This record gives sequence, structure tokens and C-alpha cells, in this order.
Amino acid sequence: MPDSVIRVLLIEDNPLHARMLRGFLESLTTPAFPVSWEGSLTSGLNRAAEEDFDVVLLDLVLPDSRGLDTFLRWKANAPQIPVVVLTGLDDMALATRAVENGAQDYLLKNQITAALLSRSLRYAVERVWARSEEWDSPMFRVAHQQFLKAAQFMGLDDNIRQRLLFPQRTQVLSLPFRRDGYDQVETVFGYRVQHVLTMGPTKGGVRYHPSVSLGEVAALAMWMTWKCALMGLPYGGAKGGVRIDPRGLSRQELQRLTRRYTSEIIHIIGPDKDIPAPDLGTNAQVMAWMMDTYSEQVGHTVPEVVTGKPVVLGGSVGRKEATGQGVIFMVEEAAKHLGMDLSKSTAVIQGFGNVGSHAAHFLEELDTTIIGISDVSGGLYNDKGFDIEELRQYTAENGSLEGYSECDRISNSELLELSCDILVPAAIENQITAGNADRIQCKILAEGANGPTTTEADEILNERDIFVVPDILANAGGVTVSYFEWVQGTQNYMWTLDEINSRLRKIMTRAFHEVLHRADRDDLDLRTASLIQGIERVTKAKLKRGLFP
Ligand code: NAD
Repeated sequence: MPDSVIRVLLIEDNPLHARMLRGFLESLTTPAFPVSWEGSLTSGLNRAAEEDFDVVLLDLVLPDSRGLDTFLRWKANAPQIPVVVLTGLDDMALATRAVENGAQDYLLKNQITAALLSRSLRYAVERVWARSEEWDSPMFRVAHQQFLKAAQFMGLDDNIRQRLLFPQRTQVLSLPFRRDGYDQVETVFGYRVQHVLTMGPTKGGVRYHPSVSLGEVAALAMWMTWKCALMGLPYGGAKGGVRIDPRGLSRQELQRLTRRYTSEIIHIIGPDKDIPAPDLGTNAQVMAWMMDTYSEQVGHTVPEVVTGKPVVLGGSVGRKEATGQGVIFMVEEAAKHLGMDLSKSTAVIQGFGNVGSHAAHFLEELDTTIIGISDVSGGLYNDKGFDIEELRQYTAENGSLEGYSECDRISNSELLELSCDILVPAAIENQITAGNADRIQCKILAEGANGPTTTEADEILNERDIFVVPDILANAGGVTVSYFEWVQGTQNYMWTLDEINSRLRKIMTRAFHEVLHRADRDDLDLRTASLIQGIERVTKAKLKRGLFP
């Protein structure tokens, strides 16, 4: 934090409350909280236009503005100043909506103490500063918004809430690797982030993609924590990645890059510490190189250091297909719940990599007609349905879906808006936004990708009664079979594909119904219910373990 003075603008029309809050703020010294007071939104906005403030304490019910509108008007006019909302017990729902829309925190007026006020304001400023200076990414903002919303619904202990907002351990690297000519060295950025170290080793994929950043990896690590907890796996969340487009690398370059990345993070990974797996832009071969590099360094073969490796090296049967398979297990449960017949349904899938191609294959096995499919080269549409095996062969031979005939070419954004029963985004994040959510025309949205839907879009989809199976539930099949792979590795005992799939279905189906029950009972959307289930487990573990020292 750069400063020891935090300038507060208090916008509160009740003079008694204002006096109490000013009293608290003026009693604080490290940092000091010089405070200016305004009694209406208009005068507050005028003041903010004339003077610099670090944070605003905003009552949402004012003489010239009421409810969420107060927050939205503030945000539209002074977006750079973090907001802590003041709320009464009777308008908690309003505070939740303000946090969903970007407020940093909320305080219950009748429970405020000087210490609580100081911490909330400091953290609001710190969080904005840390996010913009260190962690900023659209994905991290979404992960924070989702977490804060769930934390509010469940009344999460404030100490735990603060602890879970940022990862516990982070490694930022710049790493070199040689290009094929051996005269040119590329230096690229890499990351490994471990969000929660409480539950056991951490677990999470490694992505190679040009948009990888600290904020993106941190968001993905956070989601991994909730996902593992929701599935009841003994892991905390982690994620790693390198900011590079792997399509521009030869096989040898990819290998050198992977080995160097592994050796740079070697002291924080290990079968009992942190276990990487494939993600966007990486695959079983990359895991084999990671495992080999680690094993070379420690002097013996350690297959359990990664999951998602080739079966011949101790990988699990069914792991490659597991994420796509899990997505479709969840689609089956959702369809049962909604009374839909999948053999008479249509589906659209964005992304034809590991998750998308397997999801398409398993849907095809259920006789669902896949009318739209896409990859980075664009989308394909055929109302008669695609032959998925043929598309797989085509991409294996040509590298992508580009040039595939016998269908109409459409863009990725047109694809998402096709009328269908099931939509599976299985490519990248931020695909369904406030800009297109009202044109999405499916009954079930099953999130194969991580973070494909923004918070604003979520709200629109909920209002339109689209059944959203959120990422931390829908794509949890990958990490669950990774867990099976790790267990098989540590026990040196291999399971059959039937054992893998029936255990996977059992675990995911249990989680689905627990989430559904929670959502019905507490009148929540499935995403918030899933997050709460996961956060609750982590919270219990943290409270039981206690705080060192
Ligand atoms: P992948 O690299 O195997 O495939 C990604 C696919 O998305 C490719 O077909 C690519 O062409 C396409 N794509 C890339 N950019 C695109 C764009 N801008 N528009 C449309 N398509 C685009 O990756 P994957 O392992 O299948 O991962 C996909 C998503 O699923 C990611 O969000 C990942 O985090 C998530 N996920 C993967 C796993 C796993 O086990 N692999 C597990 C859980 C979640």
C-alpha cells in the first residue's frame, strides 16, 4: 500500500450516523482517515469532482437517490474511487447487488466499530490497488465478484473472507528458452499460483496462451479451490501458465519451454505439494515432459507429480476425456431435472479442443444433434448435425476446423447465439457477456470452459430462466479424474475405465444434487449455490486448523 493516509468521502444523510462514523474515523491514526462529509449523492459527486479521495463510504438511501441506483450513479461518475456501501440489516439484498456490481465491501450500520471500519476501508483501497497494480484482469474481477456475492449470502466470517480473496502463494517468472536455430533466445513470462494451502496439496492446470497473466492465473486458481472443495477432493486450488501462443512453437521448442518452466517452479511443486495438469494449450505430452524434468531433478521417477500424463507413464484411463465426459454427465442430470429428452435435443459447442471435442463425442453418443461447433478459426453450422469423428479426423489432419466444407461458416459470436437446447462454451473466458446474454437461445448452458460468463451476463441469463450449470460444477470431471490418477499413482494400482467413469458420475451427480438442493432451499442461482458449497468446506477446514502462530 503506497500511503499512510486514506482520504474518505462519507455520503450519509442521517446526521447521527454521520457523526458516529466521523468519530470512529477521526479516532484512528495508523493510517489516518481524514474524512469529508456530504449528505446527498449530488453534493458527494460534486465534492469528488473537486477533491481527491481514496475511498467513499456510501449510504444507498439518500434524499436524491435510492437503492442500487445510488451505487450505479456513483460508479458511472466516479469509477476510479473504491466504494464501501453502508447498509441496514433489512436491506442486505441491496448490499449484495452493489457488491455484484463492483462495490468493494459493505458494512452493516448497526454493527460498525472503529476497528471494522478501519479494516474495511483499508482493504477496499488495498484490493483496488493490488488488483490494478498487480493482479488486474477481467477474470480476476469476475472471480472476486462471484466470491464476494457468495460470501455475503452465506454470511462468511470476515477474517476468512479477507484471507480467501488473494492467493496464498505466487511465483512470477521470466524464463528463457532457445528457438530451433539455437542462436535466438526467447524470454517469456510464466506463473504458478497456489490459492489455498489448507486442504492438502494444491492442484491445477498449466495453460499456454497469449493472454495468460497473473490476474488470470489467480482467478483460475481461486476457482480450482471451490471446484475441488465442491467435489470433496483433498486439494486446494492452483493454476499456472506461460504467456505464449504454443501454435507458433515447434515440438522441440515446446519441450524446451516446458522443461525450463518446470525447473523454475520445481521447489513449489511435488506430489505432496502442488500437482499440475493440462489446461488450455497444453496436453498429455507437455505433462510427460514436466514429469520427466521433475524426476530427473529429484533422481527417481515420480509419476504423481503431474496428472493428465500419457497412460503409458502412469496416466489414468479416462483422464483425457474426463472433463468433456463430466460436462455431459451434468447435462444429463440437468436434462432429467428439466424433463428434456436428449435424443431429441440439439447442441452447440464452442471450442473443439480437449473439452469441446470430448463433450461433443459424448453428446453424440446420447443421440443429441450437434448443429454448431467452433474453434479459434471460426464456427460451423449444419442443421442436420455433424459427424464428430469426422471432424476430429479433419482437425487431426489440418490443425483446425478451417476449410471444413459441407456446412455454413459462421463467426464464434454467431455460434453462441444459435437457437439450440444445449450450449457448451468450451474454449476461453468472457464469451457470454452483457453484450450478448439476451440473445443466447439455449435451455441448458453447461460451462465447459472456466469463466465463460461474466457476472452481468449471469444476471440476464437467470432472469431469462436459462439453466446454467456453472464451470466449477460442469467442468469438474477433469480434476476429479486427475485425483483418481493421483490416487492410483500413489497406490501403484490401476483402475478400469468402468471404475473411473462410475466413480466420476457418482461424485459429480452427488455434487449436482447438493447444489440444486441448496439453490432451491436458499433461492439462489446454481453458481452462487456451488460457490457456497465449496467456500463452506474450505472455511470449516480453515477454522478447524486455526491460525499460526
Ligand atoms: P484446448 O487448448 O485443448 O482447446 C481449446 C479450444 O478452444 C480449441 O479448439 C481452440 O481452437 C478454441 N479456441 C481458442 N480460442 C478461441 C476463441 N477465441 N474462440 C473460439 N474458440 C477458441 O483447451 P481445453 O483443455 O479444451 O480447455 C478449454 C477450456 O476448458 C479452458 O477454459 C480450460 O480452462 C477449461 N478446462 C479444461 C480442462 C481440461 O481438463 N483440459 C478442465 C477444466 C476446465
